[in-house]
Amino acid sequence: MAYLDYNATAPLRPEARRAMLEAAEAGGNASSVHAGGRRARRMIEEARERVAMLLGARPDEVVFTSGGTEANHLALLGAGADRVLVGATEHDSVRLARADAQALPVDGSGQIALEKLDAALTESAGRALVSVMLANNETGVIQPVAEVARVARRHGALVHCDAVQAIGKIAVDLRALDVDFLSLSGHKLGGPQGVGALLVRDGRMLEPLLRGGGQEFGRRAGTENLPGIAGMAAALAAALRDLAAMDTLARLRDGMEARLAALCPELRVWGRGAPRLANTSCLAMPGTLAETQVMALDLAGIEVSAGAACSSGKVRPSHVLRAMGAGEREAREAIRVSLGWASAEDDVERFVAAWAALYMRTGGQAARVAAA
Ligand code: PLP
Repeated sequence: MAYLDYNATAPLRPEARRAMLEAAEAGGNASSVHAGGRRARRMIEEARERVAMLLGARPDEVVFTSGGTEANHLALLGAGADRVLVGATEHDSVRLARADAQALPVDGSGQIALEKLDAALTESAGRALVSVMLANNETGVIQPVAEVARVARRHGALVHCDAVQAIGKIAVDLRALDVDFLSLSGHKLGGPQGVGALLVRDGRMLEPLLRGGGQEFGRRAGTENLPGIAGMAAALAAALRDLAAMDTLARLRDGMEARLAALCPELRVWGRGAPRLANTSCLAMPGTLAETQVMALDLAGIEVSAGAACSSGKVRPSHVLRAMGAGEREAREAIRVSLGWASAEDDVERFVAAWAALYMRTGGQAARVAAA
């Protein structure tokens, strides 16, 4: 199989597996006062220091959670904001966290329209929280988060950044972005699933979602996921060590897009006009639904995602592409190819061959019929 779905979940890195096994074998509850408990506590605090140091935060600014979804909910529901403004292309775990969230439009390249943000905040009454992701999961488009924060600060608004897809692919620093809250997730980095963290800048209030224990400085009750936390910290360190390899991925990705465009002149690459993550390509084969493409590629041994698959696997028109101006049909034709730490040239070669074969069977035909 050629696995090209890193933005869904990256394969577990060996460093993360080792750290998880070590933590699972050590066992213990970090709240216990005996030696085993103290050992577990030490492992968690070492992971906290590592995560903090790697992302420009302080250890007491790291709150471990069950993943990116919970981290996003914790920020949007716990920050004490009267109203929230969220980018139109945010992940559903941000868009749907609060029913009263107001969507902020993006331009055709997928970036937040800063003047619209400014206008929305001018109209705003009460304390606002602005939530804008650092990189989009479907297109890889990178948002100008530091500028979003500058605009938000002028209006006294808080800022949350979902950095789940960006961390490990570009350099991320809590203070350089100047946001109040920042989310990360273990499994997008080559760490385990079911663990993440919210970075909470010093002095910001945060109402817990889960109560009943004093864990995580009283901000998130529940026995800590020791193997998950240790694995995520190890994966983060490995991902940042390998950051320079993103240049190689960019070359592979750009070469792939160029070859597909030569084959199919009407190919659409969403987000190509904006700064993008090096590993992500959101490609539309005109005339062929994303689910048909994903199934055909799967039969050829290539694993990719439809732009917007939900957990049931059913494909909806992508709200990300709709926000970028795609029509209903266009928003159902894009697939996402995402590379990562173990991707090789051969994976991309096999994808290009399978995509080309499918295009000749379906898309090429449909395009020719439409043009006739
Ligand atoms: N935010 C973004 C941008 C994502 O891509 C994802 C996962 O797809 C999440 C949040 C949710 O993270 P998790 O799967 O850890 O709950």
